Amino acid sequence: MHYTMKLIFLCFCLFLTSIGGNVQAQDLSSPSNPKVVILLGPPGSGKGTQAVRISKELGIPHISTGDLFRENISQDTELGKRAKTFMNAGKLVPDEVVLDMLFDRVARPDCAHGYLLDGFPRTLPQAEALEKHLAKNVQLIVLDLEVPDEIIVKRAEGRLTCKSCGNVYNKYFSPPLKEGVCDKCGGELIQRPDDKADVVQERLRVYHSQTAPLVEFYAKKGVLQRVDGTKTPEVVFQALMQKLKKG
Ligand SMILES: [Zn+2]
Repeated sequence: MHYTMKLIFLCFCLFLTSIGGNVQAQDLSSPSNPKVVILLGPPGSGKGTQAVRISKELGIPHISTGDLFRENISQDTELGKRAKTFMNAGKLVPDEVVLDMLFDRVARPDCAHGYLLDGFPRTLPQAEALEKHLAKNVQLIVLDLEVPDEIIVKRAEGRLTCKSCGNVYNKYFSPPLKEGVCDKCGGELIQRPDDKADVVQERLRVYHSQTAPLVEFYAKKGVLQRVDGTKTPEVVFQALMQKLKKG
């Protein structure tokens, strides 16, 4: 009798431990409503800078397609090798390779509570593929950083880069003390070919043609939040955070 009681007590303890263990394991592997944030915005909108700040503030990883490419290629993964064959041939890396890299990345434990996507999705087929991949309990928020083309072109046109130290100025917004000369090292200031108006305009044209259907797709789903990206980086950041807290 004495032993039976002991045995029952022991079983009960084991039962409690197993419940506790299960609850904990579940919390870690599938937290309720992980937040997936997609940041859209034209090249030159300051999206990258905002993405870094948001991911820090929310404590979720910042995933950019550029970083995914670099990581897979430098670690010589199967996907990296596949991407490289296209890049070496001067071709665009196909969606399926990009998607595999992304799904591989977001399956890691640090993404369990959510993540921020920067530069993805870029096209409607990518958005549809992501949609299929996302778990039902995911809280999806799409932030569209809006900056009119003419402002982006003006920002780029005014940008001056030091040939020697790489320091960046803007002849309209933050000019050097002496025209054409770097304040820091005295080096020559030049306009990078990437910042020329026609190059920037072409980049914007491609962005809009690809992204317009994407914006419509997310607007229809009711998850799109528009933010005015023409203000100072600090004001834009506060506006983005406000949308994220509401969302
Ligand atoms: Zn310099």
